[in-house]
Amino acid sequence: MAVDVDDELPDRESARQFYQKYEPKEVLGKGLSSVVRKCVEKATGKEYACKIMEFNDDSDDEHAATLREIRILKLVGGHPNIIDIVASFETPNYVFIVMELCPYGELFDYLTKVVRLSEKRTRQIMSSILDGVHHLHSYRVVHRDLKPENILMDSTMNVKITDLGFAAQIEDNQSLYDLFGTPGYMAPELLRCSQSEDGPGYGLPVDLWACGVILYTLLSGLPPFWHRKQHLMFRMIMEGQYTMTGSEWDDVSETAKDLIRHLLVVNPADRYTAEQALQHPFFISEKTRRKDFMAKRTLKAHIILVWSIYRLRTLHYRPQPIRGKDLLENPYRFKSYRKLIDSTAFLLYGHWIKKDEHRNQNRATLFQTEEKCDLVRHEQRIQNAQS
Ligand code: ADP
Ligand code: MG
Repeated sequence: MAVDVDDELPDRESARQFYQKYEPKEVLGKGLSSVVRKCVEKATGKEYACKIMEFNDDSDDEHAATLREIRILKLVGGHPNIIDIVASFETPNYVFIVMELCPYGELFDYLTKVVRLSEKRTRQIMSSILDGVHHLHSYRVVHRDLKPENILMDSTMNVKITDLGFAAQIEDNQSLYDLFGTPGYMAPELLRCSQSEDGPGYGLPVDLWACGVILYTLLSGLPPFWHRKQHLMFRMIMEGQYTMTGSEWDDVSETAKDLIRHLLVVNPADRYTAEQALQHPFFISEKTRRKDFMAKRTLKAHIILVWSIYRLRTLHYRPQPIRGKDLLENPYRFKSYRKLIDSTAFLLYGHWIKKDEHRNQNRATLFQTEEKCDLVRHEQRIQNAQS
């Protein structure tokens, strides 16, 4: 579903409109090529994030890459786990991308605060990331720079994949060869491209490798591949050399480790796809648990509803005795009963009466909760006694 690039070019005149429409505020973050600021829409007071990129006359490639980023953001927007683009503006030297604001910042900062996450929280975060990746891949868009710095948390702590600056949309059998990404997250097949141009290249599976690195890091607080010397780290990656044996893995389930083993697979053809990963028991168990919980809750709500309807219906036809010793002995202590009783007594006698005011107009009889015929009999008995 490719989109024609020319149709999506931002309007060169519209940068002026940016300042007319938005008020730029503090810096939220900086990347290699951009500054991201909070901005406020003047008309509504709503807050957004604005990625501002500056170009000089000989940075045509960067400029083209930014236009590609905008095009892809528009293409894949509207998913709960992908950042939403709101508008874009262009001047000869600047591009502004206005996006939804993620006030809780990067997953990276969250991770450095808590060091490692519980399996439950990891499951929530990872299933959202994989949902987002699945969505990107359904458009044959490969992100190429998935890492905790490019995963943001919105106002509800829901995760959003951002920074599609390295993303590319590929044809069905197309392979990529450029060396893009962040070293610790690069897939073996991508690194191999830098060694020889004749290889098979790489494609969508590089994102699943990065997901494996993220999952490993969330659970253990450590990266799977690390060496002071970068070329040795790259060798570890290409050979798939990692372990899950340290003490930080003691309380991590076998199911979670199994998912990592299916993502950090050197051969991309054998690596899980996003869809396969989402079907893994690590997530299925959570989904089943949630389904069971919801089913139990629904059943309970239905039972209460049916019971309430039954009670209301039977109460209407067959008065039930009022329960509770206090209530029977002195119902006037309870305001709601007092009100109910007084107004019912008024309806019955046609005028206000006080407690025990008349022998034959005793509002206390209202508490007896006997059927109405008893009241009739009671009145007959009084009449008989009088005659
Ligand atoms: P770059 O391509 O230069 O890396 P990013 O799009 O990754 O730029 O943005 C750089 C940083 O700005 C992010 O890592 C994040 O800290 C911050 N940032 C980006 N977008 C948003 C947003 N929508 N809400 C809040 N912070 C953001
Ligand atoms: Mg970034």
